[in-house]
Amino acid sequence: MKKFVLILIFIILCPIFLFGCSGSSDEKLNFYDIVVEFDDETKTASVFQQVTYVNNSNNLFETLYFHLYPNAFREGSKNKVVSSALFEKAYPNGESFGKIDVQTVSINNEFIDFEIGGDDENILIVPLLNELFPDETVVIDIEFILSLPNINHRFGFGDNAINFGNFYPIACVYEEGVGFMMEAYSPTGDPFYSDVSNYNVCVSYPEKFLIAGTGTEKNTVINKNIKTTTFEANMVRDFCFVLSEKFTVVEGNVDQTSIKYFYYDDVDPQKSLQVAIDSISTFNNLFGKYPYSTFCVVQTNFVHGGMEYPNLVMISDEIKNHEEYEYVIVHETAHQWWYGVVGNNEFKDAWIDESLTEYSTALFYDKNTQYGVNYNELIKNATASYKLFIEVYEKVYKELDTSMSRSLEEFKTEPEYVNCIYTKGIIMYDTLKTQIGEEKMIKSLKKYFKDYSYKNVKKEEIISVFEEVCGRKVESFFVSWLEGKVIFI
Ligand SMILES: [Zn+2]
Repeated sequence: MKKFVLILIFIILCPIFLFGCSGSSDEKLNFYDIVVEFDDETKTASVFQQVTYVNNSNNLFETLYFHLYPNAFREGSKNKVVSSALFEKAYPNGESFGKIDVQTVSINNEFIDFEIGGDDENILIVPLLNELFPDETVVIDIEFILSLPNINHRFGFGDNAINFGNFYPIACVYEEGVGFMMEAYSPTGDPFYSDVSNYNVCVSYPEKFLIAGTGTEKNTVINKNIKTTTFEANMVRDFCFVLSEKFTVVEGNVDQTSIKYFYYDDVDPQKSLQVAIDSISTFNNLFGKYPYSTFCVVQTNFVHGGMEYPNLVMISDEIKNHEEYEYVIVHETAHQWWYGVVGNNEFKDAWIDESLTEYSTALFYDKNTQYGVNYNELIKNATASYKLFIEVYEKVYKELDTSMSRSLEEFKTEPEYVNCIYTKGIIMYDTLKTQIGEEKMIKSLKKYFKDYSYKNVKKEEIISVFEEVCGRKVESFFVSWLEGKVIFI
């Protein structure tokens, strides 16, 4: 995600079951077959989802767990979806609630006695009929009703568009030796973690809407004023779609990827499209080729600056400064490499994707001088912002924690998160580049992308790539930055 805070300024108040290569080349991927029927009158959707779940672990499972992210939007949830500072911006029409109501869960046509659990009714618990051994698969049918809240957020409807982000039960990642990862929602950052999977998603909606979604649009049929669009998306770690009756679409192509820009309020849509094209082209050259045939940039009502999903990014319609708008497009596009293809636990270690994405954004401007944003100025401004943050923070809180490697829930405030993860992150990578040189920096990022495509990485793995390429220890460098030992720069 890109917060509504650019590094330019410091703001005190300021996200079938095919054979593929997920963890290793012989792993099979989970497959989600989802049918959504959206009712615009009631802002609800009836959904049928069939998951073919593959046990890629070395353990046998008796129970499976799925995130129920829409429940964070329900009345009475423990974990709010936005911080109090952003409440009015998120809910311009007053507080509103939504939820996911699981109706039935069945395996082999047998209804399962499922439970809703987790810390905040955020987990669907599915006891299996039989133990699931390594490499075995189980097919689970889930029927549910979604109620969308009136909120400018990933999941909800606003005045201009309807966002279906994180709307369906998605399998919790199983970590060997740790277990299923079941973190609840967080108002800060992007509290998500998932495995790369395959998708077939069929969405029905009133004819007046246009739809933008993850993957390839296979076909759209219209029957009695209802459109039905089918998407196929392979080797992606999530699926998202956005509806709006206000969308205009402009299209382009780059390196065998078709780019679509969906917008309704943009003084220069061709330039926004060009930013997306230049971003894909630049990152293809710097890190390795974007492995998908589609990419959608979607303007929508969204409380933060932008939000990344596979093959689709949301850009907030509240950004009126075009240079800032372009910056967010570049940032969210960079997430296609860091988060999309190379994944990580965004709740536990947001810096792994977010700091590198912010640094990649600076690299974009370094390679695309036609945009008139100077790389050195970006670093200088980030450093000034970070120093100011430290000064103010110490005065207000009488203590200082600048560690980057911690869970979202451990950040006390939104500005603390933004400054430690985005601002300090960009400075950390620039400092590393100064030490190892640009050539080794880019070589490391290329190797990181190649070695960890479609996987989820840990801190140790990204550090080891730099060590391997540079032929020297950089662990202490990372540790000193990540644990907050580097304070003043
Ligand atoms: Zn981001």
